[in-house]
Amino acid sequence: MSIADNISSLKKETDAVNVALIAVSKTKTAEDIQQAYDAGQRLFGENMVQELVDKHQHLPADIQWHLIGHLQTNKVKYIAPFISMIQSVDSLKLLQEINKQAQKNKRVIDCLLQIYIADEDTKYGLGFDEAIELLRSDEYAALKSIRICGLMGIATNTDNEKQVKEEYYELKTFFDGIKVSFFRKDDAFKVLSMGMSADYKLAIEQGSNMVRVGSTIFGNRVIKHWKNN
Ligand SMILES: *Cc1c(COP(=O)(O)O)cnc(C)c1O
Repeated sequence: MSIADNISSLKKETDAVNVALIAVSKTKTAEDIQQAYDAGQRLFGENMVQELVDKHQHLPADIQWHLIGHLQTNKVKYIAPFISMIQSVDSLKLLQEINKQAQKNKRVIDCLLQIYIADEDTKYGLGFDEAIELLRSDEYAALKSIRICGLMGIATNTDNEKQVKEEYYELKTFFDGIKVSFFRKDDAFKVLSMGMSADYKLAIEQGSNMVRVGSTIFGNRVIKHWKNN
């Protein structure tokens, strides 16, 4: 199957249930991304700032880039002019810096709070309590150049479907609670980003409305620099 075939079959599947498809193109070449673009894909996800900036410069301007990997505060300035959504917000400090850089660029930057749901210590994200504390804080209330559009989560990397299902169920339940408590009158808060190649069907069953799919579209990633592929 070609990249174009993969895009069109996945698109059919996700469009049918109103789920947004993020094509995760990290480590993949500009040519691979262009193939997906030519097949109609416009939402792409990357996890490294430098790679994202390079690709943004070399690929069509109407691509909507999502940052899905951990973001250091000192790198926000490089993506602030063009980023479509930052899905990996995991601290108030980072949110404040995004707000500052958004202001400088005279724009509002859409963000998701990354919530820690996995049973692993390697994943970034806010705990449930930390997310609530952030949303209750005066510091957050003062930020006018960011917009929180929802939540993102990464499940444990395991073959245990029951566990992954439970983690997604918990995040969906938390999302519903946050919506009611903090964003009842805010139509922009509606994104629940969960699900990757191995588990996106399960995630959709549990209420995801945005999936981040890499290897199912582009094939397995070899660990080398994207320009040297
Ligand atoms: C790499 C990555 C994905 C996509 O992973 P695949 O298994 O290739 O679909 C999704 N989300 C995040 C945060 C990632 O880093």
